[in-house]
Amino acid sequence: MASHGHISMLTATDARSHVHLIVGSNPLAAARCGQSLSAGASPILLAPETTELHYTLQKRVDDGEVKWMKEDFRDDHLLTLGREEIGHVVDAVFVTSGPREPLSAHISSLCKRNRIPVNVVDAPQLCTFSLLSTHIDGPLQIGITTNGRGCKLASRIRREVAASLPQNLGTACARLGDVRRRIQEEDHLLHMALADGDDVDDSIDQSASFNKLVTEADLDAAKNRRMRWLSQICEYWPLKRLAAITDDDVATILKSYEDMGPAESIGKSAAANTPVSRGRIILAGSGPGHPDMLTRATHKAIQCADLVLADKLVPAGVLDLIPRRTPVHIARKFPGNADAAQTELQEMALAGVRDGKTVLRLKQGDPYIYGRGGEEVEYFRAQGLASDRVVVLPGVTSALSAPLFAAIPPTQRDVADQVLVCTGTGKKGKPPAPPEFVASRTVVFLMALHRIAGLVEELTTHLDAEKEKETDDEERGAEKTRRNSRHLWPRDTPCAVVERASCPDQRVIRTTLGRVVEAVEAEGSRPPGLLVVGRACEFLNRPEKGRAWSVEEGFRGLDFGLDGAVGGGCE
Ligand code: SAH
Repeated sequence: MASHGHISMLTATDARSHVHLIVGSNPLAAARCGQSLSAGASPILLAPETTELHYTLQKRVDDGEVKWMKEDFRDDHLLTLGREEIGHVVDAVFVTSGPREPLSAHISSLCKRNRIPVNVVDAPQLCTFSLLSTHIDGPLQIGITTNGRGCKLASRIRREVAASLPQNLGTACARLGDVRRRIQEEDHLLHMALADGDDVDDSIDQSASFNKLVTEADLDAAKNRRMRWLSQICEYWPLKRLAAITDDDVATILKSYEDMGPAESIGKSAAANTPVSRGRIILAGSGPGHPDMLTRATHKAIQCADLVLADKLVPAGVLDLIPRRTPVHIARKFPGNADAAQTELQEMALAGVRDGKTVLRLKQGDPYIYGRGGEEVEYFRAQGLASDRVVVLPGVTSALSAPLFAAIPPTQRDVADQVLVCTGTGKKGKPPAPPEFVASRTVVFLMALHRIAGLVEELTTHLDAEKEKETDDEERGAEKTRRNSRHLWPRDTPCAVVERASCPDQRVIRTTLGRVVEAVEAEGSRPPGLLVVGRACEFLNRPEKGRAWSVEEGFRGLDFGLDGAVGGGCE
């Protein structure tokens, strides 16, 4: 029997051309035949001739979809009715007569002995597999199991999950799958051309790294950008937006490969440089993820804007607050296209203002913390917008709120008296200078997890260039060596990877600098995420002895149970 902690291994079986033996003739047998057929298998119904079949089943038999063998079960059926290519053993057996029927236990043990997957209705102990409660939408399938705790419950959960999904998600999966296949095919052709020594741009000389942790080497190579953009779209676009993906969007994705040269000419729509008389820009931060982290000022701006231009990272919960009538554009920012996307947004903003609109530039976190907010204000000023037409609203930055939601106080008496916020990615992909070790310092690294291995290396070891310098210096004098040598971070310094802070799928990995690379490799990435380094990380979270890292899932930070209380009486 399943123990409390037992879970199943969920797999998706390609059952095309499989032979399924369905024993029994009740309505459940009809259901099993239906499931078997929809997965492309050939069901054989085993029930004596005297049986009166349910009319749907009878129809399937009449139509030739289901083969009815009018016999009682015999042991040799298992080994003779299957496909020739696997020695006539059937691919799976469904017994519909239930646990009390002695035949059920007999068939089950026979199947187990012959390694034939077997399912017996209402008898978990006789089954080697069970069917999931499944939602199907085109190529998208979602299966739910409670591992024997109740199929009614599973089906209720399945309905709720399905109802919470946007419409047309299945079509979107099909479309995106198609884009993915086309990119792979085209890249493959380019590879072949390269191999033939043709004169092809060498920026595509890399195999696809779809949905895989992006390593430093990948980034350095900066190749295969279309595939990366596709994976970023899948990762960052709100599901609703993904579900509404159009053929035009697909064409843009595919075309983006060619377009990604230098930024499109910045002056096109701005060339006139005419002074602006109406309209204004509001540059606002939307917080780390949870819509409750919005300031009231930003919320008001969302409600009154005529046009919203949102960054890629702006969370879905925030976008949901935008009134239906307001047009929204989401930045096409992905590695290699950041500058072009930024230009595009700035030009759209300016055009909107010149039309007299209130344009909201919605940014993630705080607009001035790695948000290019300063750049945008400078640009709008240069285009003649007076300072009263450019309003900047602060947002809760992930740099400080993510540690909080991970129970890390970045400053803490006697532990940490300074906080350093830095980026793990420098301009043009070059690593920035690593911050020096200070025992009482907490460092928060944004945009760093894709190159965590390189970053940890820089923090904990002297780099080759420095070593060379030190050797030179040694010759010149010990004093200079001391000044040049950088204090390294001990490998046992506590650290935490905080991902999707304040979102329902928030995850915190607690470990040390020495083990963090391994931990991230093992757990995979869930962007956006940041790295917090320093002793403050363990102040409220004492590590468990002997564990290299721990993982905490989920976010409950704003769950005061207030939602239901709105308008209700207080006790
Ligand atoms: N202006 C933003 C930061 C933009 S840079 C702010 O103030 O928060 C983008 C980086 O922010 C990401 O690479 C990631 O390191 C970090 N980040 C943004 N949102 C996050 C979140 N919800 N959880 C963890 N890190 C986040």
